[in-house]
Amino acid sequence: MRIADIKRIGVVGAGQMGRGIAQVCSTAGWDVEVFDVDDASLRTAAKKTRESLARGVGKGTLMPQQVEETLGRLRFTPKVETLAEAHLVIEAAPENLSLKLDLFRRLGQLCKPEAVFASNTSSISITSLGAASGRPSRMLGLHFMNPVPVMPLVEIVRGLETADDIVALAIEVVKHLGKTAVICKDAPGFLVNRILMPMINEAIFALQEGVAAPESIDLAMTAGTRHPEGPLALADRIGLDTVLAICEVLHRETGDQKFRPCPLLRQYVEAGWLGRKTGHGFYSYQA
Ligand code: NAD
Repeated sequence: MRIADIKRIGVVGAGQMGRGIAQVCSTAGWDVEVFDVDDASLRTAAKKTRESLARGVGKGTLMPQQVEETLGRLRFTPKVETLAEAHLVIEAAPENLSLKLDLFRRLGQLCKPEAVFASNTSSISITSLGAASGRPSRMLGLHFMNPVPVMPLVEIVRGLETADDIVALAIEVVKHLGKTAVICKDAPGFLVNRILMPMINEAIFALQEGVAAPESIDLAMTAGTRHPEGPLALADRIGLDTVLAICEVLHRETGDQKFRPCPLLRQYVEAGWLGRKTGHGFYSYQA
């Protein structure tokens, strides 16, 4: 398949990543269908996409007429069958292995044999998702960064059986989105999260041990190492459930104690303090 053959893109999951991926694909000119099992997520996604596009106009990164054009190419749907005609499906459902395996089994049966499958997973094995889909050579990782419309990087992750022409196609897609690709092998956490998660987890350990307040921990890394955002604020942006899930995958897959999730992180998730998306994490946020 060549990039010109991609006319319709399906996105699974209308959360913060799925709606961002859908937005940039639609802005790039593709028709996009976004499927989610949760009606509230679909409604929020439509609202937040409009707001995000308006911010793009405000910042001068989008022309005003691109807003309606982009929205005109985007559809939000509770029916998975809508993805049957997609040429490329990008999955951005929660970071949960059994849920993703189940989704790719269903998509493998539903979609055309030539359709390409990608997962936005932060840490789960692309090879295992490819096997579940029944088309491992046409499966790869397309790992966008948060917030998708702003962040330039997309990690392209090669599963054990991903075909060379599918990797080449993914490079073209990322280029067409105006983003920067880094290609890596299918290893736990790929590149970004293998490096980022130990730092975030260590910041949470520092907080748990009372070394400093959240503001001081974040200031140490912004003013001290020129990170644009401190690790605790970034964890709130990512979602503490997602941070925990990634640390658990890294810990389980490598067996390395350095990835063991901090008990305080687990406690926050058990309390439902998931960061920005629930209004409360290491900091509080207004809706
Ligand atoms: P999120 O919780 O914001 O959104 C997940 C969405 O998936 C929700 O709207 C939920 O209703 C929907 N969903 C649940 N089960 C579903 C199903 N069976 N079918 C379809 N939709 C379903 O999560 P997110 O932050 O958007 O993360 C999504 C994926 O992207 C995860 O794999 C995560 O690891 C990855 N990711 C997250 C970030 C980040 O910073 N949050 C960055 C890169 C990658």
